[in-house]
Amino acid sequence: MSKILQVFKPKFRTEEILIEIRECLDRGWSGMGYKTDLFEQEWSNYSGFKNAHFINSATSGLHLAINIFKKKYGWQDGEEIITTALTFVSTNHAIMYERMTPVFADVDQSLCLDPKSVECLITKKTRAVIFVGIGGNAENYKQVAALCKQYGLVLILDAAHMAGTKWKINGHHVGLDSDCAVFSYQAVKNCPSGDAGMICFREKDMDQTARKLSWLGIDKSTFDRFTESSYKWKYDVTDIGYKYHGNSIMASLCRVALKYLDSDNDYRRSLADAYIDGLEHNPNIKIIYHSQEILSSRHTFQILVDDRDALIEKLSSNSIYCGVHYLANNKFDVYSKFKSNSTNAELYAGKLVSLPLHMDVTSEDIQRVLELLK
Ligand SMILES: *Cc1c(COP(=O)(O)O)cnc(C)c1O
Repeated sequence: MSKILQVFKPKFRTEEILIEIRECLDRGWSGMGYKTDLFEQEWSNYSGFKNAHFINSATSGLHLAINIFKKKYGWQDGEEIITTALTFVSTNHAIMYERMTPVFADVDQSLCLDPKSVECLITKKTRAVIFVGIGGNAENYKQVAALCKQYGLVLILDAAHMAGTKWKINGHHVGLDSDCAVFSYQAVKNCPSGDAGMICFREKDMDQTARKLSWLGIDKSTFDRFTESSYKWKYDVTDIGYKYHGNSIMASLCRVALKYLDSDNDYRRSLADAYIDGLEHNPNIKIIYHSQEILSSRHTFQILVDDRDALIEKLSSNSIYCGVHYLANNKFDVYSKFKSNSTNAELYAGKLVSLPLHMDVTSEDIQRVLELLK
């Protein structure tokens, strides 16, 4: 029986994580604070995002981002946010939670938003663009960011795949100039926990709002001056917030994962390179390349093939399991009524395959996949 290769599989450094978790348990503190504070600081130091608030998922973070911008800038229900159809539904659900209207721009061969398509769809009602760094890629990011500047639109970065994606030229993390970047530390993402995320606003005041709203709208700051006194238990509730903050158990997993993020991403890139070497000259397979300007986190390795079902069937009969990232969201029942210019996205959605890429894949495994693909 040959080794089973899943498309994704988290690598946990169990012993190190257990030390972190034991500290939480011994101290009697598994909730918000303690390790979440430490991890926020560590993520900020690592990534350069000045404001980093640890939350329970990227889905929560995307919702919070739109909720906060909407209130801050007075966006109205029904106003538009330009987005992509080639993403996990979280990205677009976040728009719907706030009763805004998703407008689906097309992607180009990188699977990232095509700036030309984005520009065509900008109207008087457009308020923001959500850029998804699919697979860790950042192709067209600068062009989309420039469009947002030019038209006065908010740029939200769905960085769920992008933990550790950096510009080659200066080593800076991609997205520092976005209005808000949201990371996922879900189990199969690059800095894995169980479920967690980080919301990184560029502006400090929005970060403070996020901290309040992620904890049900509870505002302790009014009473900060009393912290030495008997008023510790007092607080006001200024908003109907959410229960979106992270906890110290998840932060324990993230703290250990972060130590290995760069080296794990190096390894992922080496696997991607091995796939590229083996597939470059195959006329029936089109590789999705990542931008030359970045060190991609390489969350995924994606190809396009005409007969996807046959390929997935062949590989799975050899215990190799692929993924599809993603089905075109504009074709889902709940999104089918919205404006969409997604010709490429729909075409690609019918041909995309993600090959196994994670820390438990070896170069021998890649050779086995390549043999079968041939
Ligand atoms: C995984 C994912 C999310 C959601 O992340 P969670 O932390 O699981 O909520 C959002 N967007 C994209 C593109 C994703 O892949």
